[in-house]
Amino acid sequence: MNADASSPAAPKPAARRKTTAPKDAQFQVAVIGAGFSGLCMAIQLKLAKINSFVVFEKADDIGGTWRDNLYPGCACDVPSHLYSYSFEPNPNWSRMFAPQQEIWDYLRHCGRKYGVTEHMRFNAEVASAAFDTDHHYWRVMLKSGETVTAKIVVSGIGALSIPAYPKLPGIENFKGTAFHSARWRNDYDFDGKRVAVIGTGASAIQFVPAIAPRVKHLDLYQRTPPWVISKPDRRMTAVEKTLFKFLPATQKLFRGGIYWWMESRVLGLAVDPRAMKLAELYARLYINRCIKDPKLRRKVTPDYTLGCKRILMSDEYYPALTRDNVDVITTGIREVTARGLITEDGVERPADAIIYGTGFQVSDPIGPMKIVGAEGKEVRETWKDSGMEAYLGVSVSGFPNFFLLLGPNTGLGHTSIVFMIEAQVNYVMQAIKTLTKHRLRSLDVKPEVQARFNTKLQKRLDEAVWSAGGCKSWYLDEFGKNRTLWPSFTFEYWMRTRNFEARKYDFEYRRG
Ligand code: NAP
Repeated sequence: MNADASSPAAPKPAARRKTTAPKDAQFQVAVIGAGFSGLCMAIQLKLAKINSFVVFEKADDIGGTWRDNLYPGCACDVPSHLYSYSFEPNPNWSRMFAPQQEIWDYLRHCGRKYGVTEHMRFNAEVASAAFDTDHHYWRVMLKSGETVTAKIVVSGIGALSIPAYPKLPGIENFKGTAFHSARWRNDYDFDGKRVAVIGTGASAIQFVPAIAPRVKHLDLYQRTPPWVISKPDRRMTAVEKTLFKFLPATQKLFRGGIYWWMESRVLGLAVDPRAMKLAELYARLYINRCIKDPKLRRKVTPDYTLGCKRILMSDEYYPALTRDNVDVITTGIREVTARGLITEDGVERPADAIIYGTGFQVSDPIGPMKIVGAEGKEVRETWKDSGMEAYLGVSVSGFPNFFLLLGPNTGLGHTSIVFMIEAQVNYVMQAIKTLTKHRLRSLDVKPEVQARFNTKLQKRLDEAVWSAGGCKSWYLDEFGKNRTLWPSFTFEYWMRTRNFEARKYDFEYRRG
């Protein structure tokens, strides 16, 4: 802990108002979500011997996105030795980029190993949480109607959990089978079927090559082509696995090498988009190597700077598009009928099934929950005019003892999000320890600190490729502002979250 944390500044005048005697909350901490971030939080609480916590999970198992996305070909596009907790290396990853089932198994293993599964309440969806200013704790209400109190709330619900469906005229009239990539129908038999896929994002480029050989015909409806580069995937050898197991330092070195390789991408993404030109040339050559038909090449070649949208990796995607039974349709969809889709040029293409690879509702890190702060205001209301903002993506002014994991501007377009999660969890743990050590009732980030932080952040983001690269992506909000991504190297974020800075917070002492 830094010097600031051990010598908090004087409380603000407003914080000195008289309150009723404190009544203890049922839990010290309530964590929302049992995906990568919520699980990490639970493990660190347990390791710090804080046992008074509960994890609410709306589904029936750990895993978040890795539990929900079951489509064929689903795998991570960040190397697994980095896309895993630093405190729980797995020497047994089967590939550089592990498939979904392995990642899900890894998370379940972590839950069991660290004894946090017993703190989890499954099928328990949080509907709302409101800060009780008399008792200085949160009232967390579940969808079932049950209310639980907790001194601290940590939300780790992830940004990509609610499927987004396109608003297409007639969509409800379709008589065939239709489902979203994140709600995959494993019982659907693709053999001999005509399938329409809408979307060409990170999910579609994984499942299209997996189903293309099985279907009779596949129409891929593309609105914007993604940049797709070769994926340096391979099996991990028995020698590597043995080395990693018996000489853990070698796995650390391997992880470090991956970290710096991935981190170097920031130079083009956020430092100077012109640096992307070389990578773009490489990506164009890759398209040319995989696709011989000039018409198809033109269709799949983006007209925006590489990196503006997430850079995708696949060795199977472009070859799948060259198959005789696959057509890439770039004319916009006009409507959906009972038997298929009609494009703007009036052509109707029949389909037995429509698969929506159309991504997620990326609104804010609160999802459908209602979070009410100290002034009785909902968090969404405070974000209405400015767009969503937090300090370090973790603390929101006016919401004492409330912390976000993967909050505003802490997403990444270039490397492992698990690195950010660990940095945030470390920060929140220090905040919790500060609360306990100084017998504080609450910590609330100062509004001017949050405002200054976001002004600087947005200035940096204006010049980055996500805003300047000439594309439209879910990284930008309705005001055209990037409220999603961290604008720099992840080690900068790590350095900024290494020590909890109590002087940036207003706080209130416990009485008696
Ligand atoms: P996505 O990247 O948001 O892609 C959605 C696709 O659907 C885009 O091609 C989009 O076109 C298209 N689309 C959306 N609405 C449409 C409409 N009305 N008509 C036609 N096309 C429409 O979604 P995703 O592929 O599910 O991936 C979402 C995120 O999940 C990724 O960015 C990534 O962060 C994460 N992910 C990660 C991995 C991994 O391996 N780590 C794998 C899968 C997903 P436009 O481009 O024109 O909007």
